[in-house]
Amino acid sequence: MKILVINAGSSSLKYQLYNMTEESVLASGRVERIGMDSSILTHEPADKPEVREVSEILDHVTAVKKVLDALLHPVHGVLQSMNEIEAVGHRIVHGGEVFKSSVLVNAEVKLEIRNLFDLAPLHNPAHMMGIVAVETNMPDVPQAVVFDTAFHQTMPNTSYLYPIPRVLYRRHKVRRYGFHGTSHQYVSEQGAKLLGVPLESLNMISCHIGNGASVTAIKDGKSFDTSMGMTPLEGLMMGTRSGDIDPAIVPYVMNKEELTMSEVNSMLNKHSGMLAISGLSSDMREVQEAIDEGDKNAKLAFDMYTYRMRKYIGAYAAAMNGFDVLIFTAGVGENSSILRKAVCDGLTFFGLELDDAKNAERSKEPRYISTESSRVKVLVVPTNEELLIARDTYKLVQANAKG
Ligand code: ADP
Repeated sequence: MKILVINAGSSSLKYQLYNMTEESVLASGRVERIGMDSSILTHEPADKPEVREVSEILDHVTAVKKVLDALLHPVHGVLQSMNEIEAVGHRIVHGGEVFKSSVLVNAEVKLEIRNLFDLAPLHNPAHMMGIVAVETNMPDVPQAVVFDTAFHQTMPNTSYLYPIPRVLYRRHKVRRYGFHGTSHQYVSEQGAKLLGVPLESLNMISCHIGNGASVTAIKDGKSFDTSMGMTPLEGLMMGTRSGDIDPAIVPYVMNKEELTMSEVNSMLNKHSGMLAISGLSSDMREVQEAIDEGDKNAKLAFDMYTYRMRKYIGAYAAAMNGFDVLIFTAGVGENSSILRKAVCDGLTFFGLELDDAKNAERSKEPRYISTESSRVKVLVVPTNEELLIARDTYKLVQANAKG
């Protein structure tokens, strides 16, 4: 069975075509600058050279048509017929409280996703354009939706409620949702597989550290608490996001600097975090290079970043009364041995011992980086959200076919 995975943004659309028999990627690519002049399609077939095509792509319907044309192209295509695509799986950022797992798309599901536009105004409307575009181009192909929030729906109310007037939860659903759920779920499953023990028997702390970053406490295999909140701004210090700050700073700064709501929002989301403290970059590689050249602000940014990670890990260790496994994933978590060392060296108290040689190795495979005798196992697990979306879509379509 072949499954197309789509991640639709407002002006971009990323795709991967999977052959589910061996879970291999047949082709991947992206359309950028949808709705602007000179849109670009980049198509990467597995065994052939990459193709780039600049054309006018005014909407998502045309973007999906272009992707299908590329997949079916006589030279750089990977399919003989569109009928080979048996299902399409979409990444959806926000599933609110309604979606506790992935589902097949129908009229009711589309309505529910629309009802959640308010909670994710930058993401969910774009995802919906992706769903409609697939429907228009491939009306008979089943579609599934996989939510970044769904994995965290197992959190108890002690984790997800904020200590503010409860009417705000009842009226406006103000609560912690958490994000990166697909990634935390995928790496916890892979981690348990690597350890050879059932996921349900483990308490894990998984650190998804990319441009956006979040930590999740996974108790008995289920999300128990997570650092991102109602929006992806809460929690860890990130590339350009502040993470946790005293909420009273917001009205204070708005008043002193005469900022509007939208300006302060943009300050906290786009001009804070590592970028603000280093005064240099939100990109961990550039921050590390600057540290090597003796830049003090870059060092401060890195130290704050890792200190705040350790604080969360410590809090979640206490929240679960101990933990067995610490997982690092995503761009920084998978690639920065320096960051992993800075975080783990402060956690020896938990019986956690990093193996420096293993930590320094580079690999695309899930692996241990703790010593044999370390009580807490430390793993690096490359994330693969697209594969989890393809797997969920496959399962849903098969279950549906069996009736
Ligand atoms: P996103 O949240 O956009 O999906 P990624 O998971 O791709 O982000 O992570 C991007 C981050 O990973 C960037 O800050 C980048 O600097 C960092 N990164 C990638 N490779 C390395 C590396 N070798 N060393 C340190 N950081 C890295």
